Amino acid sequence: MDCLFCSISRGEIPSAKVYEDDTVCAFRDIAPQAPVHILVIPKQHIASLDEVTAANSAVTAHILEVIPQIAKAEGLTRGYRVITNVGEDACQSVHHMHFHILGGKKLPEQMS
Ligand code: AMP
Repeated sequence: MDCLFCSISRGEIPSAKVYEDDTVCAFRDIAPQAPVHILVIPKQHIASLDEVTAANSAVTAHILEVIPQIAKAEGLTRGYRVITNVGEDACQSVHHMHFHILGGKKLPEQMS
């Protein structure tokens, strides 16, 4: 399958990785929208949050464990925002589930 984030997770396409373990990796967004902008992804291909089931929810739960660790390592002591875009109305552009971590500045109140 030709998936950009699968290729990044396998190291076939370079990325600025900030975290990796057996099931998850995280790397800096190529077009950052905040001083800290990191994407956290499962290594297995899950197209979006819409595809999470009882069979693959453990990796999603693990992502939620890893996010605060990354935020701490990045020094986001004043807070941060976590976003996952799902589908067309949310403008999901890469169809491999990913959680944006945004921080390092006061973020706008408006989310849509
Ligand atoms: P979304 O619009 O939620 O699907 O987010 C996709 C994100 O992937 C965008 O913020 C892009 O800037 C980011 N992105 C696309 N290609 C790369 C890449 N090669 N390395 C890192 N981030 C990327």
